[in-house]
Amino acid sequence: MIVMQGISKSYPPKREEIPVPVLNDVNLRIRPGEYVAFVGPSGSGKSTLMNILGCLDTPSSGAYFLDGVDVSHLDGDALCMVRREKIGFVFQGYQLLGKLTALENVAFPLMLRGISEEERSRRAMEALRRVALDKRASHKPCELSGGQQQRVALARALCYSPKLLLCDEPTGALDEQSRDEILTTFDRLHQSGHTIVIITHDMSVAKRAMRRYIVDGGGVLEEGRSRTIDRSPV
Ligand code: ADP
Ligand code: MG
Repeated sequence: MIVMQGISKSYPPKREEIPVPVLNDVNLRIRPGEYVAFVGPSGSGKSTLMNILGCLDTPSSGAYFLDGVDVSHLDGDALCMVRREKIGFVFQGYQLLGKLTALENVAFPLMLRGISEEERSRRAMEALRRVALDKRASHKPCELSGGQQQRVALARALCYSPKLLLCDEPTGALDEQSRDEILTTFDRLHQSGHTIVIITHDMSVAKRAMRRYIVDGGGVLEEGRSRTIDRSPV
């Protein structure tokens, strides 16, 4: 599903300075149906890694295979196509549209894909059911709790059946109870076969995943393993 081989990333230098290295020789593999967390302190490179995993940015060097295709050298338009087809995003701040109902928010990405209104509603309702919010379909975001809003965002990411669910600090803005709701929802989605990657600074959130990668000082290392490089075929 996901293979990274020797991925490095530095940002271009500002003025006379030297480039800023952020990721250094990242090697990892995530299989379909896995639930994996990346955990590390602020500034360790998590968002940089998430941008590459999510095809929002490309690495400076190395190869990134997503679903068997090397996407490390694609241009902006091609990356956009890959994102649309394969990745469902969930962010810390939910990013729901305040004037739309829960159902309309979930259906929105389907409209961008040219799907008929009837089919959009059917699929959006099904996605809301999967996060146990079908009874709140006609509520606007301001009428929902933080945890419920994040579940709407999760349903929106699920409604076009992405191969990968990629979540950046999904519980970062939530109180303890809402956080537990979301983590329980991830558990259920994982049990029903979804591939889930979450990025978090919170070890207690990361502990719910099957496996953890520790992001620190530009390196990414699987928890409980010494440094080994997996060079088996993609
Ligand atoms: P995290 O998400 O773990 O907090 P980031 O990936 O956002 O870490 O940042 C890692 C490092 O890269 C930081 O030192 C940050 O200052 C630097 N960085 C991030 N984005 C840019 C950018 N666009 N240009 C230059 N430096 C950046
Ligand atoms: Mg970040």
